[in-house]
Amino acid sequence: MSEHLTTVAGVTIDTRHFIGGERVASTETFTDVSPIDGSSLGEISRGTAMEGAAAVAAAKAAFPGWAATPPAERARILRAVADGVDERAEELAIVETNDNGALLRSHRRGIMPRVAHNFRFFADWLLKLDHEDFTTRGHTNHVSWDPAGPCVLITPWNAPLMLATWKVAPALAAGNTVVLKPAEWSPLTASLLADIAAGAGLPAGVLNVVQGYGSEIGDALTAHPDVRRISFTGSVPTARHIAASAAAHLTPLSLELGGKSPLLVFADADLDLAVDLAVEQYDNAGQVCLAATRILVEETVAAEFTRRFTDKASRLRQGDPRDEATDIGPTIHPRQLEKIDGFVQRALAAGARAVVGGRRGEGHYYAPTLLTDVAQDSEIVQEEVFGPVLTLQTFTDEDEAVRLANGTRFGLAATVATGDPERAERVTARLVAGTVWVNCFFVRDLQAPFGGSRQSGVGREGGNWSFDFYCDVKNTVTAPKGWKVHG
Ligand code: NAP
Ligand code: MG
Repeated sequence: MSEHLTTVAGVTIDTRHFIGGERVASTETFTDVSPIDGSSLGEISRGTAMEGAAAVAAAKAAFPGWAATPPAERARILRAVADGVDERAEELAIVETNDNGALLRSHRRGIMPRVAHNFRFFADWLLKLDHEDFTTRGHTNHVSWDPAGPCVLITPWNAPLMLATWKVAPALAAGNTVVLKPAEWSPLTASLLADIAAGAGLPAGVLNVVQGYGSEIGDALTAHPDVRRISFTGSVPTARHIAASAAAHLTPLSLELGGKSPLLVFADADLDLAVDLAVEQYDNAGQVCLAATRILVEETVAAEFTRRFTDKASRLRQGDPRDEATDIGPTIHPRQLEKIDGFVQRALAAGARAVVGGRRGEGHYYAPTLLTDVAQDSEIVQEEVFGPVLTLQTFTDEDEAVRLANGTRFGLAATVATGDPERAERVTARLVAGTVWVNCFFVRDLQAPFGGSRQSGVGREGGNWSFDFYCDVKNTVTAPKGWKVHG
């Protein structure tokens, strides 16, 4: 087998970049490791500024042709990409699980179907894009969404293909070309996507994939004068760096960042539902940006809530994510595990009590944890842990609930459990968050706006919002027949 191919669970993956329709190797590589057992999944081409520049050049060269491709034809090719994802869904699922440790059963049943849906949805939406013409003193205003140019898309490891395609699909639908840089901890499915897209007839250079350390290849992409949009999902510190780098050419940015979202449980809530919602926050071992990691419970029901939560959490099965019976898999990387444990140990030292967990498990596993006796201004309440660690605080009335809920620098999401629709209306109106769920969690429609308030992000994507970001929106004003300047 070529030195540039690796095989993961029987699936062969090219470890090189994909630039201008060709596989391109770097002289250096990095090792991609599986969080399940620490084994090596392959030696991946480690891109530098040179490969970054080559990818942008390829995207620039392919742009005029793709931008001029009629929307119906662009949509046809995107649907063919979706079909290709469906055909290889099982392979994508098993590779992703090996690479990032998230549950195979969620990759199979939830995530890979959504990856395909990302392409179909934005193909359909492209053909529906419309703003009714309107007139100004007899002049017609016509709004159009013009392709913007090469886009740089940078994505994290917690839901690699899902988050990558949620950007790739609208960027391509809009008529742009793309340079995708997946996270170094989970690069494999992006390489498979490049194969799938090429097989579906996407012209060379329209989708380019470059791998490597963000610190080594990032600036070559984000400070490049030919890049017209940057969409980034990841952490706040990296976002600051990218924003500074993009400032050189005022390149428009979409930033989807971290969170410290609250789950507000009022005494009038269905307590079993509230407990289910809370336990669900351990999904993907807590490595979910939207996770409601701060549980805020009305004091009168706090003891009963905690009892039911502890009971349910103790029944979760942690283990190999390839096993269908597993509820919680491993943490992505030893470095992340260290980070999580550091947060928990500092919180315990500061007086927090671990009602559930509070320690490492075997290998890359961290025990699901619930901490109480935590102060609002403490690190564990204010900072994103990105692991299976929840805090519980109590409140006595609506004002206090809202104050605690809004009391961080984040504003990605919020969840409210209440049996009173009027309370739901009052409270949701006061919450600072891009998405608010009432008596539910993680219900996501691609036509809804998605993004964060405060330091959870800049801008919104989804439906029209995606096209507003990925396009140069243009208004064309046409005079009525016979109109004169000095008429
Ligand atoms: P990260 O460290 O910020 O990395 C995200 C991506 O940025 C990776 O591909 C990374 O490459 C790259 N990168 C790093 N330094 C860069 C630089 N100087 N220039 C350009 N790119 C650079 O975040 P993460 O740890 O992978 O992801 C977890 C974070 O993402 C959490 O904060 C989570 O809340 C957030 N997140 C947000 C959403 C949302 O939709 N709001 C969704 C999921 C995750 P390397 O892998 O090589 O470092
Ligand atoms: Mg990996």
